[in-house]
Amino acid sequence: MTLGSGATAGQPTMWNAFANMASLVGSGGPITIVRGEGATVFDDAGRDYLDALGGLWYCNVGYGRRELAEAAAAQMRRLAVAQTFEFWSNPPAEALARRVAGLAPVPDAKVFFTPGGGSDAIDTAAKLARAYWRATGQPDKQVIISRSQAYHGMNAYGTSLGGIEANAEPFGPLVSLVEHVPWDDAEALDELIERIGPGRVAAFFCEPVMGAGGIYPPPEGYLERVSEICRRRDVLLVADEVINGFGRLGAWFGSIRFGLQPDMIVAAKGLTSGYLPLGAVVIDGRIAEPFWRPGTEHVFRHGYTYSAHPTACAVGLANLDLIEGEGMIERVNELEPILADRLKPLADHELVAEVRAGTGLLAAVEFAGPALAADPGLGARLVTGIRERGVITRQLRGLSLQISPPFTVTVAEIERIAETFIAAFDAARG
Ligand code: PLP
Repeated sequence: MTLGSGATAGQPTMWNAFANMASLVGSGGPITIVRGEGATVFDDAGRDYLDALGGLWYCNVGYGRRELAEAAAAQMRRLAVAQTFEFWSNPPAEALARRVAGLAPVPDAKVFFTPGGGSDAIDTAAKLARAYWRATGQPDKQVIISRSQAYHGMNAYGTSLGGIEANAEPFGPLVSLVEHVPWDDAEALDELIERIGPGRVAAFFCEPVMGAGGIYPPPEGYLERVSEICRRRDVLLVADEVINGFGRLGAWFGSIRFGLQPDMIVAAKGLTSGYLPLGAVVIDGRIAEPFWRPGTEHVFRHGYTYSAHPTACAVGLANLDLIEGEGMIERVNELEPILADRLKPLADHELVAEVRAGTGLLAAVEFAGPALAADPGLGARLVTGIRERGVITRQLRGLSLQISPPFTVTVAEIERIAETFIAAFDAARG
C-alpha cells in the first residue's frame, strides 16, 4: 500500500450523517456547499438555494455575517483556545455565561458550556441531574423520563432519551434507567412517576416545542401540568431548548414564551447561530448549590477538553449582540403569522394532512397518511422537487417537511418558500 492512497478513487470519502451512503454515491454524491449569504447558500456549481432549514435549525442570524467572522478572528489572535478544567477561565466564557444567565428564566443561574453542541449539553444535564440527587442524599433518584417522538441528540444519553425508535434501535441498550411517556400526555408522566416511585425519578426532559419529532407545539395546558407534576413529585424539569432557544419561538427561550421555570435549560444551535459549535446548560442556583456551597466536597466530575472554548464563546457573544442589536426576536414575532399565513393554502392540498405553524419561525407540512401509504417515496421526491426548484427542506421522521429559516429571511423569501412547496406538492400529485 502506498502512503496516502487510502481513499477509494472516484467516490467521496466523507461519511455523511444520517445518510444512506450507497444511494448517495449512486446518485452522484453529495451537494457541496461553498458559500452562504443571508438565507441563501451556494453550491460548487454556482447554484443558489434558499435555505428554509437555516442549516439544521441553527443559522438564526443568517449566513455570511462578517461580525461573527471578525469576532472569531480577533479572539483567535488573542487567545484561540484555553482549557477550563479545575481553576481556569477565560474572558469570553465568563462574559457569555453571565449574558446567558441574564436572559434565561432561571434564578441565580450557573452555566456549563459544552463544545460539541446539543448532544454534549444533554449528556451534561442528564449526568448533573443524577449527580445532584446523589449529592443531596437521595442516590436512588436516578431514573430519567423523556417523551415519545423526542430528539435529544446522538450521544449515548440523547440516543437513549430520544423517542424516535429508528435512531436508537441499531445500537442496543446504551443508558440504563431511562423511561418514556407519550409526548402529549401529562397524566401519563404522573402515573409513571407514581409507578416507578418518586424516590427513584431524577428528571423529566422535554422540548417545549418538539422539533425533529415533527414540530409539535405543546398541547394546551401540557407544560403547565408537567411543570406542576415535576414540582410536586420533586423531579427535575429539564427543558431541551436546543432548537427553541435564542429566539426561534419569538422569545429568548421557549420557557419564557410558555411561562416555564425549568431546573435546567439545555441550549446550543442559536447560541452561536452555528458559526462555531457550542452548547450550554443553564442551571438553577438551587441545583448548583450542593456543588458550589462553601466547603462542599461535591465535584461535578464532568467536562470536555473544549468546554467553554474562548473562540466559540466570543462568537456566541457577537451572535447575541446581533440578535439583540437588530431586533431579531421582535422580527420572529412579526414573521410568525406571515409564515403561517403563506403556508395556509397547503393545508387544503390532497397530499397534506396538516400544516403546523404559528409558534415562532417554525413550520411543518405533514403528508396525508393515505398518500404516503400509497407512495412511500413521496417525502423524498418532495424534498428533491423542492430542492430542484431552489429551496432546501428535509423530512422529519418521514412524515413531514421542516421549515425553520434564518431570522433574517425576508417576507418575499417566505413567499418563495411557500410557493415552491405548493408547486412541488402540485407536481407530486401528478
Ligand atoms: N436536542 C434537540 C432538541 C435537538 O434538536 C438537537 C439537534 O438537533 C440536539 C439536542 C442535539 O444537538 P447537536 O446535534 O448539536 O448535538
